[in-house]
Amino acid sequence: KPEPSKHFIRQAIESDLKSGRFDAVRTRFPPEPNGYLHIGHAKSICLNFGLAADMGGTCNLRFDDTNPIKEDTEYVDSIQEDVRWLGFDWDGLHFASDYFDQLYDWAEKLIQDGKAYVCDLTAEETRTYRGTLTEPGRNSPHRDRTSDENLDLFRRMKAGEFPDGSRTLRAKIDMAAANINLRDPVMYRIAKVSHHRTGDKWCIYPMYDWAHGQSDSLEKISFSICTLEFEQHRPLYDWYCESLDIHHPRQIEFARLNITYTVMSKRKLLQLVQEKHVNGWDDPRMPTIVGLRRRGYTPESIRMFCADIGVAKFNSTIDVVRLENAIREHLNEVAPRRMAVLDPIKLTITNWPQENGEDVVEMVEATNNPGDESAGSRMIPFTGKLWIEQDDFMEQAPGKFFRLKKGGAVRLRSGYIIDCHDVVKDADGKVIEILCTYDPQTKSGHDDSGRKVKGTIHWVSRDHAASVTVRNYDRLFSVENPDSTAEGKTFLDHLNPDSLTTTTALVEPALAKAAIGERVQFERLGYYVVDPDSTAEEVIFNRIVGLRDTWAK
Ligand code: ATP
Ligand code: MG
Ligand code: MG
Repeated sequence: KPEPSKHFIRQAIESDLKSGRFDAVRTRFPPEPNGYLHIGHAKSICLNFGLAADMGGTCNLRFDDTNPIKEDTEYVDSIQEDVRWLGFDWDGLHFASDYFDQLYDWAEKLIQDGKAYVCDLTAEETRTYRGTLTEPGRNSPHRDRTSDENLDLFRRMKAGEFPDGSRTLRAKIDMAAANINLRDPVMYRIAKVSHHRTGDKWCIYPMYDWAHGQSDSLEKISFSICTLEFEQHRPLYDWYCESLDIHHPRQIEFARLNITYTVMSKRKLLQLVQEKHVNGWDDPRMPTIVGLRRRGYTPESIRMFCADIGVAKFNSTIDVVRLENAIREHLNEVAPRRMAVLDPIKLTITNWPQENGEDVVEMVEATNNPGDESAGSRMIPFTGKLWIEQDDFMEQAPGKFFRLKKGGAVRLRSGYIIDCHDVVKDADGKVIEILCTYDPQTKSGHDDSGRKVKGTIHWVSRDHAASVTVRNYDRLFSVENPDSTAEGKTFLDHLNPDSLTTTTALVEPALAKAAIGERVQFERLGYYVVDPDSTAEEVIFNRIVGLRDTWAK
């Protein structure tokens, strides 16, 4: 395992451990259960769990479930499954909602200390009073209520006496602060909605900023790692911890992951699902963890990708090719090779031996993985009646064409060298069958002919091939940045209409029994995985990714 590179977060942690500010690495991954995790979350997961693992610390999984309107237990379950699938396990499993009582008590303490007040401004008024980047805010007319009055009103808010949106609890900081987040931020809002865990116990819910740092503090987190958009919230994070005089974690921000040809916000992913632009959260075109898993990505490849892109302080967009390369690299090592013909044309060997009027069937040995001897080999049936790819044959071909042409020769992978002497055409003059002879001296692994040919092509036996369905997935969007849209357009206008095409392939007979989730390389074509939609009658392969380089093409 290579030494993890020391990015700026790691350096900050080491310096805090050295100075004695913290005695251990305690991190957390804090998703809001309002959607499925995506590859961006994987970056945060690898970072938080990875740092804890590398530095002998702990990492919690904490659900930031403070907004019951959008949250659901379906997401709570899927998130746990996804974190585990990625190869991580949490030390503590927590829910911000478990801290609602403590947060409430702390809110009363701030009120008693004169640091929080009940405000009757509407949401709209609160926004207007807040000012802008260039103009200071104005004090709320309710800012100078006494502690007793605030306490009474806050308790009545909790008791459900006031309608939704009619009052808030706000921190009393500074309406003229340069940082707008410090202009008396809202701590609690009234929302008479059931919570997926606390039911109807609460009708006031804490805002993210009020809940997050305090949850970190309660779990004795030392390093609260979050994305860049929270940089401007850090002074507030610090203010709450200091005002309550509680354990004070250090918030460190890093750049969110963005990837070309996809969208990453949960809101947009939800829209894709709800409006049926894709077949659910686990559609193989989705950048969700469940989508990538179904597409055939391995946990290793996602972890490799996250390690490869590193951690930075500035937002940027990563080329999706780097994600595709990660899965290629991993599957190149572990995926067994198989032969499949996607666009077949008949090839007949005219001198193939026959017995009782039938082609002799010869079992030939095929290597499972040329880069891994331990992967062994398999036997596949070879006969005089084969399928090859249409585009591996040209009747008349330019000099550089090393596949098969009339009058030319090529090696059939794991089989023999064949020479093409003729073709059969239909009434329109289209080639429908290629006629060849084989050279018995050239059997792969036993070739003593001394003959050399430039090209090697794949094939399957017509009498033995199994027919399977192939879902050819392509990028979901046809432009690099679907989020950037001209006026009146949305990211949906950039959906790639050809992101899924379905075809039939003819494959080695054993692949008819491939298990769901099995990943293979179709030689010279790409990597494929058996989709869970497969049945005993119909095996369905998803294209994971094409090959970067095709041999002998
Ligand atoms: P979204 O905008 O997609 O809803 P979010 O940040 O609201 O994302 P959370 O569930 O709150 O989603 O995210 C959990 C953790 O994952 C947070 O710490 C967040 O910073 C991190 N995270 C979310 N998206 C990304 C991303 N694209 N890159 C890196 N980290 C991310
Ligand atoms: Mg969030
Ligand atoms: Mg969000």
